[in-house]
Amino acid sequence: MVNLIDRPGTDEAAWQAWAGLRQLPVADLTGWARVLVLAAHPDDEVLGVGGTMALLAGAGARLRLVAVTDGEASHPGHPDPAALAALRVAETADALRALGAQDTEVIRLGFPDTGVAAREDVLAARLRDLAAGCDAVLAPWDQDVHADHEAVGRAARRASPLTHWYPVWTWHWAAPGDSRVPWHQGLRVSLRPSIVARKRAAISCFASQLEPRGPGAGPVLTPETVAHFSRDYEVLLRADGR
Ligand SMILES: [Zn+2]
Repeated sequence: MVNLIDRPGTDEAAWQAWAGLRQLPVADLTGWARVLVLAAHPDDEVLGVGGTMALLAGAGARLRLVAVTDGEASHPGHPDPAALAALRVAETADALRALGAQDTEVIRLGFPDTGVAAREDVLAARLRDLAAGCDAVLAPWDQDVHADHEAVGRAARRASPLTHWYPVWTWHWAAPGDSRVPWHQGLRVSLRPSIVARKRAAISCFASQLEPRGPGAGPVLTPETVAHFSRDYEVLLRADGR
């Protein structure tokens, strides 16, 4: 699992050159007046669907963000994980402002970072309540190859048939046309330049993930990874399998 993420990833130029993404059907966001967005860690939501969130917020939709963990495990050996978590929570607030989504209702569940899978049943039950009345649920893909992402994605599908998954690490470990990815469930959300600018500004709020973690330890989000999330579109995967 970790190996796929730690290995060198697919260059963004390869994704850009692949017509498969450009040809995905366009997601119809009309009717998405109340949307539940799930993040396994602070920054997942901005990377995966920050542009969609900016579009929805600009259209007057009500957004509810559920932060399943506070991301305190992003820096192995960190002397003060609680301070790291607080920093990541603050970065998320800044990022929501950058998206123009500062009115988002934020609910922090405080699950342990890297420990979501063991609590999947509890999470699914909570999400059933939190998804009530929502027109769509956006969650990390349940096969994103990060255990927390996958657990949140599974719990989301159990909680709501309106779930759409968003890939995060997939853009790193997969390749164009990759048979491990259900491209036939894919939808595309186009982002106009002003929305792309908001998303890029929001990503830049996550300094803790963009800066080297210490001597010999690079950033969580390398420039190569960030490039995947600076596109003028986002991709959703319909969890209902259609
Ligand atoms: Zn994550």
